[in-house]
This record gives sequence, structure tokens and C-alpha cells, in this order.
Amino acid sequence: MAKLIDGRAIAEKVYVDLRRDIAALKSKGVTPGLAVILVGDNPASRAYVRSKDKMCRSLGLHSVKLELPASTTQAELLARVEELNRDPEIHGILVQSPPPRQIDEAEVVRSLEPRKDVDGFHPENVAKLVIDDPSGFVPCTPLGVQRLLIESKIDIAGAHVVILGRSMIVGKPLALLLMQKNKNGNATVTVVHSRSRELEKIMRSADILIAAIGQPNFVKAEHVRDGAVVIDVGINRLDDAPSERGYRLVGDVAFDEVSQKAAAITPVPGGVGPMTIAMLMSNTIKACRQWIGRGGSPGPPAGD
Ligand code: NAP
Repeated sequence: MAKLIDGRAIAEKVYVDLRRDIAALKSKGVTPGLAVILVGDNPASRAYVRSKDKMCRSLGLHSVKLELPASTTQAELLARVEELNRDPEIHGILVQSPPPRQIDEAEVVRSLEPRKDVDGFHPENVAKLVIDDPSGFVPCTPLGVQRLLIESKIDIAGAHVVILGRSMIVGKPLALLLMQKNKNGNATVTVVHSRSRELEKIMRSADILIAAIGQPNFVKAEHVRDGAVVIDVGINRLDDAPSERGYRLVGDVAFDEVSQKAAAITPVPGGVGPMTIAMLMSNTIKACRQWIGRGGSPGPPAGD
């Protein structure tokens, strides 16, 4: 039976360190600030934004939750981003995805001040990830996966890591992160996607198998080598067994059978999810520290 990698417990450990960092910043008269922009009323997005705001408040961060109507235009949204780019009390900004159809999300991301881009999606931060520059921001879910592996004392260096999924939010940045030439990287990474051949054979060759495809229970015991580590990023809502919520959450991994074969595995919920928000808080504190390091200048708007 696999060891359970408890994301909630590891996130709590992260928060102990973050609370100490926040206290140190506050003793210098600075409170890290995070602004989250939500456009429209997608219920899942609303729930994510609420939990980010709640976590900021519980840590004593300055939290701004900007809720804009679904009819918000691109120009209106860019204007709000620009205000936050210039706001010295805000060190991190994120725009909750997905925005309504009239919004060009890529342009909004490019309009963010890169040094406040705590989601790590701005091209400048993507480039820093590629060139192993630690001053950049790495997207929160990949960072959370890496931290889970480190805290669980799983060797990343030299391991064959197979990542299912190549999105810009999870798969691609995670591959870059785990192959970085540093003590928490040095993995041999294979990324597979919907056009990959011999998917099952590749999955079976993994020392660490990371699933991020959004397909419920896709990874079965037969796809996993004995003793592999399995990290399940997927969050899928199933309506087959209504709970109080009206749905249940499952990952991309068939947990019951895979946990009989793997050496260690993350559950859903309670695995990667709690780490994603912990890493957002961590990135916000990093942004605040860097801001202090620059002498408290909010920095020029992106593109200057
Ligand atoms: P996405 O943008 O839809 O990307 C999915 C990726 O999986 C794509 O690269 C796609 O291939 C690949 N894929 C889909 N079906 C496949 C199949 N049958 N075989 C092989 N590859 C397949 O999804 P995402 O945003 O990365 O999210 C992935 C999952 O992680 C979702 O369940 C999401 O809810 C979850 N998630 C969780 C967290 C967290 O905090 N735990 C954070 C973010 C996302 P193509 O590129 O060829 O289309």
C-alpha cells in the first residue's frame, strides 16, 4: 500500500514558515498585498477567489478582491490592472482564469507588471524559468508539486519523471522546473499529451508519474510501475454520487487501484490542491521581499 502524500499537512508546514516571514516583513512596516481580479460569475472561479482571499486574511496579508461584471471590456480590465501595477500596497496580482469570451487573456497577462505576476504566466517569468533564473515567478501548481516531492523526500535528481499534459499552467512549466540544473531539479523529463504514441509504455517507465490532463481516473494500476511515485494534479467533478455539494471530486488517477502498486501517492482532494494556494501565498511574499530589495519602488508598468 502506497504512502499517502498529505498535501494539507505539507501546506500547513509551508504556512508555519510563511507566517514567520510575514511577521518579519511587518516588523519592517510592510504588509505583503495580493490583488485578485475576478471577471464574471463563474461559480468555480468565484470559489477559488474566495479561498485565496480567505487564506490571505488568515495569514494577515493585505487582500484586495476585485469583482468585475461579466460585461467588463478588455479596455476596462486593462485599466484596472494598470492601477494595481502602480499601487505600492499591492505586491502580487492575478486575474482569475477563465475570463469571459470578450477578454483576450494573453494580452491581460502581458499587461501585468512582471514583478507582480505571482501566477508566473507573464512571458518574462516564463523566460526566467527556461533560463533557470530564480528571480522569476514559477506557476503555483508546478511549484506545489515540486515542494510535495521535496518535503516527501522523493529523489528528483536523475529520476525519470513522466508528465501527462502540456498546458502552460501545469505540464509545461512543471517539466521546465523539474529539469532545471539545481538541487531540486535534474530530473529526466518526458511530457506526453493527446497526440503522444505509446502512452502506456511511457507511463510504465516512470519513476515519478504526474497526471495533469483533466480525465477522471485515467491512470490505472496497469500503467504504473511497482514502486513508482504518483502525483495526481487532476480535479474532475463527477455528478454520479451526489454529496452535500451536489458532486464529488476525483483526480486523473484511479486512486484505489494505483495506491496498491505505487510507493507514494497524492489523494484528490487533499494532495496538490492545498499546495497550489500555499505557493500563491509564498510567491506573494517573494514579490514583497523583492519589492523591498528594490527600495520599495512599485516599478514601472510593464512595457516601459
Ligand atoms: P488543460 O489545459 O486542459 O490541458 C490538458 C492537457 O492534457 C493537454 O496537454 C492535453 O493534450 C492533455 N490530455 C488531455 N487528454 C489526454 C489524454 N487522453 N491523453 C493524453 N493527454 C491528454 O488542463 P490543465 O489546466 O493543465 O489542467 C489539468 C488538470 O489539472 C485538470 O483536471 C485541472 O482541473 C487540474 N488542475 C489542478 C490544479 C490544482 O491546484 N490541483 C491546478 C490546475 C489544474 P493536448 O495538449 O494534446 O490537448
